[in-house]
Amino acid sequence: MPEQFDFVVAGAGHNSLITAAYLAKAGYRCLVLEGRPIVGGGVKSAHLTLKGFVHDVCSSAHNGIHGNPLLRNNELNLGEYGLEYIYPDPVFHMPFPDGSYLTQWRDLDRTCAEFAKFSKKDGEAYRRMIAEYESVSPLLGQISFSPVGFGKPLNELLAAHPQGKIWQRRLAMSAWEIISETFEDAHCRAFMLGCPYSLQPVLDPATARAAYIPLHQQRESRPLPKGGSGELTAALARVIEAHQGTILVNKWVNALIIENGRCVGVECSDGSKYRADKAVVSTIHIKQLVDMAPAELWGEDFLDGVKTWEAGLTLFAANYATTEPPKYKVDGGELSPVHSGLMVSPERAMQMTVDYRSGNANTEDPSLHVICCSVADPTRAPAGMHTIKIVAYHPYQLKEGPAHWDVIKEQVAQANLKFLRRFSPNLTDDKILAHTVETPLDLERMNPHNWHGSCHAGGSGPSQVGAMRPMPGYAQHRMPIPGLYQTGATTHPGGSVTGGPGRNAAVVILKDLGTSIEAVVHKA
Ligand SMILES: Cc1cc2nc3c(=O)[nH]c(=O)nc-3n(C[C@H](O)[C@H](O)[C@H](O)COP(=O)(O)OP(=O)(O)OC[C@H]3O[C@@H](n4cnc5c(N)ncnc54)[C@H](O)[C@@H]3O)c2cc1C
Repeated sequence: MPEQFDFVVAGAGHNSLITAAYLAKAGYRCLVLEGRPIVGGGVKSAHLTLKGFVHDVCSSAHNGIHGNPLLRNNELNLGEYGLEYIYPDPVFHMPFPDGSYLTQWRDLDRTCAEFAKFSKKDGEAYRRMIAEYESVSPLLGQISFSPVGFGKPLNELLAAHPQGKIWQRRLAMSAWEIISETFEDAHCRAFMLGCPYSLQPVLDPATARAAYIPLHQQRESRPLPKGGSGELTAALARVIEAHQGTILVNKWVNALIIENGRCVGVECSDGSKYRADKAVVSTIHIKQLVDMAPAELWGEDFLDGVKTWEAGLTLFAANYATTEPPKYKVDGGELSPVHSGLMVSPERAMQMTVDYRSGNANTEDPSLHVICCSVADPTRAPAGMHTIKIVAYHPYQLKEGPAHWDVIKEQVAQANLKFLRRFSPNLTDDKILAHTVETPLDLERMNPHNWHGSCHAGGSGPSQVGAMRPMPGYAQHRMPIPGLYQTGATTHPGGSVTGGPGRNAAVVILKDLGTSIEAVVHKA
């Protein structure tokens, strides 16, 4: 291992690995320190249940990253480092308690026909919504995949769009307003609200973008890396190592080394110290980062931004090794999709906000996402077997406090499974070989970046997006302490597998070094 590094990167989620990969490709000596035994954070696969069953520990669907120039323009040639995507079709399936169902297919006409089963008007509305969204989606992508303040702000971009004024209003509305004004039928509304990971309270202002996620999926499906979610981060790690970077695991960073007011390295919990000649790049949660250097170095406004940071909505995940995939009854037989979900009514989507805010883990009619990657990717399980993940929307902060999750976790997982069996009755106990359960509290224990269970590192309400992420004045990845940059989901454009925070941080750092990401990408 080299003794000297230009950059020390603290934490190895997909975002910080992306930053490190661009820096390593630029020729800088990079050291990545990950606290866990394997890299990847929320983009990781493991034999969680039994040997041969490859489970995605957190994320499975890599929708957001396909619009990132990293993949769109193949900037790091990740294919050559082993990354390959599968684009499931059907994209998403939702059965309803009255026996009906709505399936999203990659074929637009087929999906419109599914909406039209419930309402001819809604079939037309879906087609119209897609056409309108496609015209504005490149502008939204431009905002996500540019650092804050680099390039024109959204309102200026919209001013040049023929429907710009309409979109300015739409984006400030709630997801609920968009969906209820566009669709008349309850099934169509429930599908549109339940099919994305609605980690946004759908009644809140400026949550409109959540309403457009299903349309995104219409174009890109819900892509899965072949072999497991972790294949993305494994490929990024290979890029770093191919460019002489070093990655060390089981290295929890617990202090920043400060000299003359500048961050010059980090110290790990095992006492090891690593110095960075250029800078430290962190993906440590801001709530923990502030405790790693003296308070006076951060400044009052930064500390206030950390104090007022909110976790947002949280997830609960159970992984199963099974002998069958979920089987849903459809006209003419059964359907076993990769992605399916339960949202019994549009009112249930509204009620979720109340459940979160009142600390209630709803087990009567929970909203669930069910992911069975092995249907499209047989490498995930032994021949004829399957991996199933049931993701539920449950609060971290229970009425009895978060520690109560340790008491009720199995009971809640059982209730979620029981509810799923109403729609997929084949998943009886004899089909389940083994399982694991991760409550919002477990997700935080597993990865401290999931602060208070938030798998997006924090909510995405108006006070925590864009120039406010992580807080006003510090959205450009440069932290108040010179020599320290921040990336990861606490920075713009936030959580999910988008790689946006990672590439945006690289853009800023490379600019500060007097070069550019374009120069690095085109470097021979
Ligand atoms: C159950 C579940 C399902 C999800 N499903 C999806 C999905 O299908 N699609 C999607 O787009 N998103 C999904 N997400 C969200 C997504 O996984 C995250 O938003 C995303 O992975 C965040 O990436 P990141 O790079 O910002 O940080 P993280 O992935 O959180 O990585 C941070 C890394 O830093 C390490 N670290 C933290 N502190 C330290 C320290 N002090 N020292 C050393 N290392 C440290 C952590 O161990 C971790 O490896 C899901 C999340 C969960 C929990």
